[in-house]
Amino acid sequence: MAIYNLGSINADLFYHVPHLPQAGETLAASSFTRGLGGKGANMSVAAARAGAHAVHIGAVGHDGLWAQERLMEFGVDTRHIAGLPDTPIGQAIITVDQAGENSIVLLRGANHAIPQTTLAGALAEASPGDTLLMQNETLNQRKAAKMARDLDLYIAYAAAPFEAAAVTEVLPFLDFLILNEVEATQLEEATGQTPEQLGVPDVIITLGGKGARWLHKGKRQDFPAFPVTALDTTGAGDTFTGYVLAARDRGLPMPQAITLAMRAAALMVTRHGTADVIPDLKEVTEARF
Ligand code: ATP
Repeated sequence: MAIYNLGSINADLFYHVPHLPQAGETLAASSFTRGLGGKGANMSVAAARAGAHAVHIGAVGHDGLWAQERLMEFGVDTRHIAGLPDTPIGQAIITVDQAGENSIVLLRGANHAIPQTTLAGALAEASPGDTLLMQNETLNQRKAAKMARDLDLYIAYAAAPFEAAAVTEVLPFLDFLILNEVEATQLEEATGQTPEQLGVPDVIITLGGKGARWLHKGKRQDFPAFPVTALDTTGAGDTFTGYVLAARDRGLPMPQAITLAMRAAALMVTRHGTADVIPDLKEVTEARF
């Protein structure tokens, strides 16, 4: 089976500075690093590293070929990533001060210009039972969900970055919804319904260092997090999502899929970085907590 992931691809551009810049200030950065990021790319990498056939549906600009190559190196199927001549790759320009505080400027770039022909071309290859995964850093999620329902795919959505209108327009199509504690509260405020009342067969609420909650058929099951010393929680949620869906795609029952995803996410919080440091299946299964 395969996981088709309609998702963002970003260049994460880190500038290390003595302090966060003030209005009008010119500041010299002491160092610069460029990483692969974007919630979509992170989830594709996580799913591929977990052993799934992860097909990324997305777009980069002419300045983003390196990102496409890096995804390929991580085992992601990149045939359905469009190269756009006139639009830059999505970017997160991140200034980090000496205390680790940051400020971020986001450019959506090619993530908001994924051609509909790219989406249709990718899903034309999908088979019933494959997964369509989406997050909220691209456009056309409802359109993709409709196409996926007609194709009898398992439709999964990560409600981040949270936007009430974006979630509610795909809710009727979803088989699987994943959100963190804050997003779960925001969704409850927006819809007036508890996560159990949404009518989505599988809902997972990630609870950071407390673990995760699975809501299924009117029952809730809590999974405590693996004990680690957290260094950097960036990308933990994306790693969890890619892993849990990859494990489900391989036929694992949901409780085992969640446990594997929590192991991967626990390892992830012990590392600095995003897509580039997502652990592979061997590391995850061999890790001792
Ligand atoms: P992010 O946006 O930072 O990627 P998130 O808010 O989407 O994360 P979280 O709920 O913070 O998601 O974390 C996802 C999963 O990562 C948790 O369900 C848990 O399994 C694991 N995790 C996060 N923080 C810790 C921690 N301190 N110790 C162990 N596991 C953790």
